[in-house]
Amino acid sequence: MIEVEFNISNAELHIMRVIWSLGEARVDEVYNQISLMDWSLATVKTLLGRLVKKEMLSTEKEGRKFIYRPLIDENDAIDRMSQNLLKKVCATKQRNVLGQMIANSELTKSDIEQLQEALSEKVAVAEVHCNCLETVGACACKHEAEHMEKM
Ligand SMILES: [Zn+2]
Ligand SMILES: [Zn+2]
Repeated sequence: MIEVEFNISNAELHIMRVIWSLGEARVDEVYNQISLMDWSLATVKTLLGRLVKKEMLSTEKEGRKFIYRPLIDENDAIDRMSQNLLKKVCATKQRNVLGQMIANSELTKSDIEQLQEALSEKVAVAEVHCNCLETVGACACKHEAEHMEKM
């Protein structure tokens, strides 16, 4: 199976969070939960339609209304979004992403202990190699010499 890129907009994610919180929902129930966003009913319908197309929601007609159910759970979505973010940066800069995430997260003592445990169990590689040329065909990193050796 081909790994499909997990691609969700901020607006779509907002809708998913509403549906995750409700378990399942009809259009009007979603609409009632998004009062903060000032979106029209048509916008909500469009976003729901996109999420069905992306296979993140299922839809089924019950009576005269469509009901929407999540096809991916919140934790899976968080995993996929995190992997996506790491894939978007140079392999040598992934630790910057992790450092920023740790610095900017609200963590309890037990959260920190769990992270420390995960880090202590992490198997280190000898060296991390830039993958910019392979992934974007250009590299802004300061290691041209290393790339030259590969050619
Ligand atoms: Zn590079
Ligand atoms: Zn790079």
